[in-house]
Amino acid sequence: MRHKIKDHLYNLAMRTNCPYCNLLRRRDKRVLLRKKRVFAAFSDPRLMPGHLLIIPKKYVEKLSELNSEERKEIFDTAIYFQEKILKNIAPGCDMRQHYRPFIPQRKFKVNHLHIHLQPRKNKDKLWEKTQRYEDNIFRKLSEKERESMRKRLAK
Ligand SMILES: [Zn+2]
Repeated sequence: MRHKIKDHLYNLAMRTNCPYCNLLRRRDKRVLLRKKRVFAAFSDPRLMPGHLLIIPKKYVEKLSELNSEERKEIFDTAIYFQEKILKNIAPGCDMRQHYRPFIPQRKFKVNHLHIHLQPRKNKDKLWEKTQRYEDNIFRKLSEKERESMRKRLAK
């Protein structure tokens, strides 16, 4: 019980300082759509025009903390806007979700769970500045690594 109260107070403190919870409270113009459990907003700062965020109204940091209705609504909303982006904004679209608890919250890192939708074009600025260097990071998957990872993922 004491644990629950502590969790609740922690959650309340996090929500008070959370830029995404504040978007909802302030009825900010960045909010594009509100649904029962989820909302969509423009990312600001953004990586490219049309960079959107799909955010659960509940303050959580990981997808596993959402119940099945919330999981369904967040993915349905992300898919809905991905199709809008593909139809009206760009020929491609990345969907990304990060969980990096080792980075403290700051301007470019918000702990409140969110899915990024990023409109993509061939050889766009994001590719030019970062992703073209990913080619140098890829390595062939060895049999040893594959089996070692299989064991670790089964625990
Ligand atoms: Zn929040």
